[in-house]
Amino acid sequence: MARVLSRDPVDIENLLGLNPRMQTHATLCSSTVKKQDKKHWKRNADKSSSNCETLENNFDDIKHTTLSERGALREAMRCLKCADAPCQKSCPTNLDIKSFITSIANKNYYGAAKMILSDNPLGLTCGMVCPTSDLCVGGCNLFATEEGPINIGGLQQFATEVFKAMNIPQIRSPSLPPPAEIPEAYHAKIALFGAGPASISCASFLARLGYSDITIFEKQEYIGGLSTSEIPQFRLPYDVVNFEAELMKDLGVKIVCSKGLGIEGMTINTLKEDGYKAVFIGIGQLLNYCTGQHSMGRR
Ligand code: SF4
Repeated sequence: MARVLSRDPVDIENLLGLNPRMQTHATLCSSTVKKQDKKHWKRNADKSSSNCETLENNFDDIKHTTLSERGALREAMRCLKCADAPCQKSCPTNLDIKSFITSIANKNYYGAAKMILSDNPLGLTCGMVCPTSDLCVGGCNLFATEEGPINIGGLQQFATEVFKAMNIPQIRSPSLPPPAEIPEAYHAKIALFGAGPASISCASFLARLGYSDITIFEKQEYIGGLSTSEIPQFRLPYDVVNFEAELMKDLGVKIVCSKGLGIEGMTINTLKEDGYKAVFIGIGQLLNYCTGQHSMGRR
């Protein structure tokens, strides 16, 4: 059942709902370029899967990043809102970090979460599990100060957790034409494989653009992919994965579990026969297994 925010008319409801900033084009930045950019700003030693220390039975890297409101405000006030903002240049999802920190400093937690979730539909997951010391925090201009760099992951987690507790649904952009008037191409059937982070993100961006017939096929009985099966619950509770999937489902994206390529004879050709016009394959976990790099939860 749709979540009810108030008894206000629809236009007010639209103002209250999560109406993310909508980008009409993708910002393409390859991982290679991002890695080079990151190195330019980096103030601590680089980490990679090849030179990572062994973490088996070593929980020293678990630091308490959860911030109280008081802690978050104090941390947000410390941020210099730098003109060059190396934190943003080191973020693989190109989050507008100094803007969301400014919103937190102004106690506008909804605004901060809206900024985060606009650029990254998995904003809470990333706030909780991103190896920030190697990314945004590693480039922070306050790195050498006595109090250290800004706890960017903690602030991201704080804003999105406050937003999660608000129980606000995501809405279709009011600037889009009504579904009946939108061009036919937007009603094309789109299939995504794997209900993990890649497909949830891709489906969210497509649905925000107005595509209305999107289905994610997941071969497991549960959703979330690597976030659910590989990352321990103390780092990323299932509740968080579910929250981000529900936000996506608010836009009409469907998820079908226990179904995928090769199951019950499903192939790209059978999808074509069923009228699907586009397919996205987001089965990254398989690739991670192949390269042995499935230790995200411990990094
Ligand atoms: S580099 Fe650090 S201090 Fe500067 S804007 Fe980013 S988080 Fe704030």
